[in-house]
Amino acid sequence: MTQADSLDLSPLPPLAATDAATSIAGASSTDEESKCRRCGASCHVAVPAGPIGTLVVPGLHCMFLEPDAGRFHCSVYSERFERAPWCHTAVEAQPLGYLATDCPYGANADAKLMLPEEQLLPHWPTLLRNMRAWGVPTYIHQRALLAEVTKRTRRKWVLEPWPGDPERLRLRPVGFTQPYVVGNR
Ligand code: SF4
Repeated sequence: MTQADSLDLSPLPPLAATDAATSIAGASSTDEESKCRRCGASCHVAVPAGPIGTLVVPGLHCMFLEPDAGRFHCSVYSERFERAPWCHTAVEAQPLGYLATDCPYGANADAKLMLPEEQLLPHWPTLLRNMRAWGVPTYIHQRALLAEVTKRTRRKWVLEPWPGDPERLRLRPVGFTQPYVVGNR
């Protein structure tokens, strides 16, 4: 995403309301596109973390999103709607809360919160628990998420098909074969 974001989790119940990939594809001018900070929030999947709201999870993002000198860019931007049917325009995504809370395309207090690492850390256990409980969309960058979770937990994880849902993946630590039972967040 050069300018803007996206990830649409509509098929995944608990995540659905907060994630959507979005690009400013709706923008028709260079001026409009230049508003984008390339923070990548909208192309990340945000996960509910309790009263604080829905948090952007590092590594949990569209398969086409790539790091770019401390920012992000979309590797298929010019053809994103053909290659990534989950992608939204910024105009579509803003009222749905799929952009960053303070996005230049329109602030939305209920949108995705992108916290600095020191503020994110206390929420990591909740985020991991909810990702395991609800699964993650199949359109994510699987290697990026596995690398992030492995780094944070210091153990290996796998992503596998979610039984009965072709659009969702289950996150499971290597060595555990039974579904992880979690409580409410
Ligand atoms: S295709 Fe993916 S990376 Fe590109 S703008 Fe859409 S959600 Fe973002």
